Amino acid sequence: MSAPEDAGPGRVDGTACGCDEAVERLWEYVDSELGDLDQKRVQAHLDECAPCLEEEHIEVVLKQLVRRCCQEEAPAALRLRIHEQLSVLRLRAVAEPEA
Ligand SMILES: [Zn+2]
Repeated sequence: MSAPEDAGPGRVDGTACGCDEAVERLWEYVDSELGDLDQKRVQAHLDECAPCLEEEHIEVVLKQLVRRCCQEEAPAALRLRIHEQLSVLRLRAVAEPEA
């Protein structure tokens, strides 16, 4: 018996953004540059979307961001910060019981 609203664990009522937006704003999210609402939306998505937290995926995102900023490589500090943030998100995702 499956509920009609069975959209996976950690579903947030329409507040989570999509993968594209989450990736697009990951940088700002890590830098806490987003507004309260956007910060929550990106966080809600990352909370429930494992692929967005994959290491390889993050490397791709970093490269895109760096290219946009006309730099050769992501600054080590930024890279470190993003990986720290993702570790926290991953731990939280694992700790959360799947309802
Ligand atoms: Zn995603």
